[in-house]
Amino acid sequence: MEFMKPEPKPASEANAGSFGRAKVVCRRALACFAAGLLSLMGACHEAPEATRESTSRAPAGTANGLAPSPEIWPAGSNVLFLTLDTTRVDALGCYNGDLATTPNLDDLAAKSHLFERCSTSVPQTLPAHVSLFSGLQPGKHGVRKNFGGSINDRLPMLAEAFRAAGFDTGAFVSAFVLDQRFGLSRGFEVYDPATFDIKGDVKEERLAADTVDAAIEWIQGREGPWFVWVHLFDPHTPYAPPEPFAGRFPDDPYLGEVASMDAEIGRLIRALAESDLMDRTGIVVCGDHGEGLGDHGEPTHGILLYESTTRVPLFVHTPGQSEGRRHQRPVALVDLAPTLAEALGQTGTYDGESLLPLLSGGAAETGPRGLYLESLEGYYRSGWSPIYALVQGPWKYILSPRPELFDVVDDPAESENLHDRFPDVAARLRAELESLIPDGDMALGTAVDLSTEEHAALTALGYVAGAPGRGAGSQKNPADLIHLAAIHQRALGAFNTGRLEEAAQLFRRELEEDSESPLLHWYLGSCLIASRPLEASSLFLQAIELQPSFEEPYLALCKLLNNQRRIQDVVAVAREGVKNTSDTFGRLHYFRALGTLRTDGFSQQVLADLDVAVERGQAPINAYRLRAGLLLRQLGEIDAALSDLERCVGLLNPEEQAVLYSDAMFATLHGDPRFEKLFASQQ
Ligand SMILES: [Zn+2]
Repeated sequence: MEFMKPEPKPASEANAGSFGRAKVVCRRALACFAAGLLSLMGACHEAPEATRESTSRAPAGTANGLAPSPEIWPAGSNVLFLTLDTTRVDALGCYNGDLATTPNLDDLAAKSHLFERCSTSVPQTLPAHVSLFSGLQPGKHGVRKNFGGSINDRLPMLAEAFRAAGFDTGAFVSAFVLDQRFGLSRGFEVYDPATFDIKGDVKEERLAADTVDAAIEWIQGREGPWFVWVHLFDPHTPYAPPEPFAGRFPDDPYLGEVASMDAEIGRLIRALAESDLMDRTGIVVCGDHGEGLGDHGEPTHGILLYESTTRVPLFVHTPGQSEGRRHQRPVALVDLAPTLAEALGQTGTYDGESLLPLLSGGAAETGPRGLYLESLEGYYRSGWSPIYALVQGPWKYILSPRPELFDVVDDPAESENLHDRFPDVAARLRAELESLIPDGDMALGTAVDLSTEEHAALTALGYVAGAPGRGAGSQKNPADLIHLAAIHQRALGAFNTGRLEEAAQLFRRELEEDSESPLLHWYLGSCLIASRPLEASSLFLQAIELQPSFEEPYLALCKLLNNQRRIQDVVAVAREGVKNTSDTFGRLHYFRALGTLRTDGFSQQVLADLDVAVERGQAPINAYRLRAGLLLRQLGEIDAALSDLERCVGLLNPEEQAVLYSDAMFATLHGDPRFEKLFASQQ
């Protein structure tokens, strides 16, 4: 077999046919994850090669072991860290001389160190930013996909170093995927917005104009020094630039988004200049990943590892710099944390290396360095093979069921696979890449608290917690199945706008080629709940069989059976679900409580299940309401019941409050001033 490693152990393989063992595997996965983190802490004592290289370069004798580089980065300089989401290198004039769409970025780049070849570690927003601010590869920081858990709170983050050094620290982000709950806020005194409101319709984006406004206002209120991170999301789908850019780019709305973002960046830079801050401010501009735009068949980003999504813009404007320089050496986003830490005079353990020696002209532009990349999205989403890549010199080796080797300097479009023509190079790069792939399982990090609405919104966008299913990590090559990504996007679009027949048709087409995906079974079932409930039930059961630890199909089945008043079955499905999944939001516990109550009557187990539902769910209206009723009627605990009702009422609109007020369960509370007060507006 050609493709032997990596071979992550698919959870479902151990679980196949056994509901009971799934939980054990799940726990073991968590234990492995915890062990991984512990070994990471241990790694601080046993620095990897790159780290030793980067820390040993510094002159000895300073308090922190490293001296700042006063010549190019004076101590106490402000730092503006600008991340451009979804920005392809060739969308910027400074990389693509044919374009004149980004005059502000081009202007800054002309006075900066521009890196011709910078790679992200993962072509996805959250893991890329975590690598950026930790200097670590995803296998070490543990965030390997969007919404794939939060960062281990023991990992040192760049903003903490600045804050500890006396800087004011502020972050201004533009997308829910970077909400502070995912952990990037550590070290920032201000993280703006405090949270994204994606209740109701899906508003996961803030426009560059608003983010830049907030950042300028904050900067102008500071004495300094400050460290500011500004993240702009405009080029991400949907491509809908505001005027005048929509009119200026009628045939290329993606470029219109980039141009519109550039105009806002111009405003930010001018604000710094007008406040006379440019000589005292270093500016780092980088992308988090690119965008496929159909290259190699990938419409957006996140699954494949070709240059259109993995190569990102990077330029570093040192304080007061007036002349630009272009660097050919391959560098990576993981280099930026060690670079800025060194500018602060601090040391750390990183997978990247400081770029300060390159910036000061004291390091070679060439060298044998290998840059690591990974994409596990196809694995988590559909059970396809995980893919990895190594960039070294002019070469890029992609490890997949059909390995590829490209000379990305001569062939940046990666049109000619040189794997068979240069077998020695391929073997050498493969061996080095395999030594960098983290061992162990691919369990995702700590789950993040999300409300039911947020979870629903993310699901609608296609973000569902990993459910690789049977055959996960198989020989299915993401590059060969990428045409399904475009169908999937259309299917989700139809699903979200209620065009369920159309969505069902598209999901069926995907299933024809991807028949073991639990996710697709669940999506198709969800389209058919109203029109073909029997087929929907069967699809949910198949999804469960393919991946017993996948929560959504249990939940969908519970709802469907509950609507059909098949209460015994609700209890049976909820029981299995609680046993086999982590039941992140406690919803299966709620269904188990509800079903058990109706079949067997009140018991302490019912109350215990409701406790879990209330504790885990962010807005569990039904669980609060049911528990309040039970506390009152079964146990006579008026205070506890009122407390639950108070929380429940806080989540309801006036019409729903009116219904609750007239609920027979709470008739005995009428006349109690505390109860009447809860519904004051109803009377
Ligand atoms: Zn992104």
